[in-house]
Amino acid sequence: MTFIRKVETWITNSKQTEDGWSQIKPFIFLKLTNSDGFEGWGEAFSLPAREKGIVEIIHNLMSSLSHVKDITPDRFYTESNLIADGHRGIDFSAATSAIEMSLWDIEGKKEKKPLYKILSKDYREKVPVYATIWSEDFKNDENLSSRCIETLSDGYGGIKIYPLQNRTVEQAAKCVSNIRDVLGYKIPLMLDLACPKDTNISLKLASLVEEFRPYWFEEPVDGESTRALKDIREKTSLRIVSGEKQCGLNHFIETLALDAVDIFNPDISGVGGIIDMIKIIKLSHEKKVTVSPHCWNSMSIAASAMVHVCMSFTNTEMAEFFPEYIPYSLKFSNQNYEIKDGFVKIEDNEGLGINIDTKLLMEDTSSYRETELT
Ligand SMILES: [Mg+2]
Repeated sequence: MTFIRKVETWITNSKQTEDGWSQIKPFIFLKLTNSDGFEGWGEAFSLPAREKGIVEIIHNLMSSLSHVKDITPDRFYTESNLIADGHRGIDFSAATSAIEMSLWDIEGKKEKKPLYKILSKDYREKVPVYATIWSEDFKNDENLSSRCIETLSDGYGGIKIYPLQNRTVEQAAKCVSNIRDVLGYKIPLMLDLACPKDTNISLKLASLVEEFRPYWFEEPVDGESTRALKDIREKTSLRIVSGEKQCGLNHFIETLALDAVDIFNPDISGVGGIIDMIKIIKLSHEKKVTVSPHCWNSMSIAASAMVHVCMSFTNTEMAEFFPEYIPYSLKFSNQNYEIKDGFVKIEDNEGLGINIDTKLLMEDTSSYRETELT
């Protein structure tokens, strides 16, 4: 009989990328160690100012489940849903995502198999991958276009941009046109609107950019507003993406029932866990909706979990990478994936296949916490 002996969490510092292009958000990492010495890594998604709150939930949840022996991802799923009592919230779901991910990592190590081979027998060898080009600062169309070309040369098969950031609708449409001129029409170009407050902005932009054939049209309104999402979907031919800040199965079931999306992008570290992600993938498949796990997280633990999930199911879309986060993530993590010719392929290591140098991680940590369980 085994039990979880130790719970450790790290919140990393926020910092600028080395080339000054963007700010790297703080990451929340979790390591569970069981009584047989197996270690599992997980990661929690966070929005600003909530990191310590999420860590608090992780430690409280694990303490309250310390009586559960031989805990598996499935058992944790059942127990944590009982504790959630039907009300999850994104922060609770980020905490359960991290815990479940580390339990999956332990399962893989116990079975000496990579996670994707545990999740499915019908797995793919590699999955299409795209790069999100994000910066907090204003970048003009020329800056953005050259960044897109530079990034594509690193092997990505598609690009996502935020055309409305610091731009009017007309300027945003012009930006998309300028980038299409540079990229051509063979490269998938995703547009992320990041939830404008006025849905008329989204509708106007949709009509102006349809001719530039964006691959998808992400968050034209917050995913909670399912009726507004459906309204936009009915008025445009663009493929609507939603779900990155949503959690809990009910939301996704309701959205599918309304026919309000073409693609879901629940966050791999925020939706609640890999089990819910799989349930969403299966339910979506029945409605011909695809799933592209969102990954605004580190490019180590969470990115690996995302690739394992994408490899396990055929109705997953392109995997999301933040190229700006990779050099920083590799300061304390091994690189267990290769990005080449538009695809990402993961190494055949046990579990998530991630090794973290905790000494190096600690150098970039603003808050470390440890709970011994008995
Ligand atoms: Mg987004």
